[in-house]
Amino acid sequence: MIAEEIKKIHAMLPDGVELCAVSKFHPASAIKEAYDAGQRIFGESRVQELVEKIKVLPADIKWHFIGHLQTNKVRQLIGQVSLIESVDSVRLLDLIDKESEKSGVITNVLMQLHVAREETKFGFYPEELLEYFSCREFEKLKATHICGVMGMASNTDDMTRVRADFNTIADTRMRILDIAPDLRGFDIVSMGMSGDWKIAVEEGSNLVRIGTAIFGDRQY
Ligand SMILES: *Cc1c(COP(=O)(O)O)cnc(C)c1O
Repeated sequence: MIAEEIKKIHAMLPDGVELCAVSKFHPASAIKEAYDAGQRIFGESRVQELVEKIKVLPADIKWHFIGHLQTNKVRQLIGQVSLIESVDSVRLLDLIDKESEKSGVITNVLMQLHVAREETKFGFYPEELLEYFSCREFEKLKATHICGVMGMASNTDDMTRVRADFNTIADTRMRILDIAPDLRGFDIVSMGMSGDWKIAVEEGSNLVRIGTAIFGDRQY
């Protein structure tokens, strides 16, 4: 089942759009099944769970951290993940940078945008993020590469609203590039989940994060 879903989604994704298989709350055995079907990028939202899974799964998996990251957990994550998608404050970003420098690694991150109506309290408002880049605060970073933006659409059946949210996320990335045209590798637009990824891709996503459609319902 998992292998079939992985292959089905891979076949549907346009060139240049990557799949992050969101495996949070699912066992390592399920991840292995997806891995054997060719999947290499997996998304997790809790540090402890991720660290346990890293120990028992193949080393060439690219782990993305996609959940709210508490500052006291940052150190455990540094050097373990290929992308932290959910940087939601400057304080967190600066801490990731400090810990990365200390460990002698470069950490890749995405800035999380808050555009959805009420669903999550995490993330930068578009104007806040534009302000961050227009002040050129990113130039202070020593061991962190900001690779783009991540966001979620409102949790609603109103697909017009969902599309508008995705449009805002992708547009914010373009506006940031207008402000700071010298930014390099600011390429990733991570948006789209099981129920809305096709709309997200139409609106410019190049990284979709799909859990339920691959692994089934989560047992919290
Ligand atoms: C859980 C989660 C997903 C996956 O959601 P599904 O609806 O199961 O596909 C995607 N992105 C984030 C940030 C998540 O926390």
